[in-house]
Amino acid sequence: MLPQITNRTNGQETRYILSRYIVATDPVLDKNTNTTHIIIFSTRSLRALLVSPSVWNSISSTNIETLDKNILEVLLAAKIIVSPEDNELEIILQRNRAAIASSQTLYECLQPTALCQLGCDYCGQSHRPDTLSHNDQDTVVERIAGRLRQGSYTTLEIGWFGGEPLLGMNAIRRLTPLLQNASSLQQCKYRARVVTNGLRLSKDIATELVCDLGVDEIEVTLDGPADSHDARRHTKGGKPTFARIFENVEWIVKSSQLPVNVTIRCNVDRRNADSVSRLIDQLADLESQDRMSLYFAPIHSWGNDADALCLSREEYAHLEMEWLSHAYFRRFSPPLMPGPKPIVCMAVNPHAELIDPFGNVFNCTEAPMVPAYGEINFYSRGTVRIPEESPHAVRLGAFLDDIAKGRFDCASCPMLPVCGGACPKQWNDGHIPCPSAKLNIKDRLILAWAFSRIDHDTHST
Ligand code: SF4
Ligand code: SF4
Repeated sequence: MLPQITNRTNGQETRYILSRYIVATDPVLDKNTNTTHIIIFSTRSLRALLVSPSVWNSISSTNIETLDKNILEVLLAAKIIVSPEDNELEIILQRNRAAIASSQTLYECLQPTALCQLGCDYCGQSHRPDTLSHNDQDTVVERIAGRLRQGSYTTLEIGWFGGEPLLGMNAIRRLTPLLQNASSLQQCKYRARVVTNGLRLSKDIATELVCDLGVDEIEVTLDGPADSHDARRHTKGGKPTFARIFENVEWIVKSSQLPVNVTIRCNVDRRNADSVSRLIDQLADLESQDRMSLYFAPIHSWGNDADALCLSREEYAHLEMEWLSHAYFRRFSPPLMPGPKPIVCMAVNPHAELIDPFGNVFNCTEAPMVPAYGEINFYSRGTVRIPEESPHAVRLGAFLDDIAKGRFDCASCPMLPVCGGACPKQWNDGHIPCPSAKLNIKDRLILAWAFSRIDHDTHST
């Protein structure tokens, strides 16, 4: 049962309870002032407060009499204490539903080709030399133009996704001006991002993507320095790929004329965990941290048994704190504190969809081209020509209702406002997709507080 706080300072009895959306650290010693603090973070308001242990004891032990009225007001404003009348779960779910309903971005994730040069051993996709046909491309453009006309959008965002999207450059070249035209007819801003393995991201292709094809964000995967990366992200013929990809990334981030940010994703499992810091060093040595960001992601099942080699959630969360600190000290700005996550992913968002190289439509980025999901993929919602509902896709789309019914742990989790539930598909597949932040959020809070007290110019030693 949640502790209760009673405020009698104004002569009336008002009852409060500690919000369910709270994370509090253990006591932290500030060596400069020799004082001890508790850091309280409201995942609902995103506010973090430093309080003394005695204030924390009062909050958590219902001893309202010791709390100053001003402190009480601050705690209320930060949603650290709330009225017991508040149905906080419903408030968050309503907030999420409202964000989905009012979204003004139409997000279309397009897979121009089913081909990929790499043979990553954890990939669940089956690759084939098929590209979205001209007929299907035209239907895709008509479909997107129709969706733009019917909605109240201000932005059309395209995600070029794979297979390896840069092997479908001809489709990207043909589709981009048509999509930009459809977008401008509705006075919408057009933007595009590409998620690529980076092997074909040469100087010419990168320049074309950014200067001619409206791409303003490029995500490349590097699973460690050469030895680790090449052991798993090799070509289908087993050849190494790191050197070429790194050279491509280096050229882009060093090229001051190319207005694009590069995000490096590093997939981690038991085999490459001890090489992540070396990758951070190698990237930091490029001295282009202002053009580059990086994040880490645990390997998970992709309709296969890739999760067999994954670290335990506790191991991953612990190691991630080392990588985040190391990245910070090498002058990256890794996201320590999670932001709001009202829309968990396209599965719950009717303003988003994925179209695969065969014109099939999905509401999940990990469903297409995975043989484990059937010869006729049971997540497919039909094609761009003939819609057809899929009970599996509907199930993913009902995720918020499922949380409301208490079907998943998210219903009672303090991280829900900043996590959103992580991945409807994994929950429905019987996996627990909680992000590492659920386990290391207290360490993140302490680190964020410590970093905010360090002069950025003096921390690189
Ligand atoms: S259901 Fe999971 S895998 Fe599918 S789009 Fe959402 S987060 Fe991604
Ligand atoms: S996915 Fe995990 S961390 Fe996220 S809200 Fe659900 S239970 Fe919490």
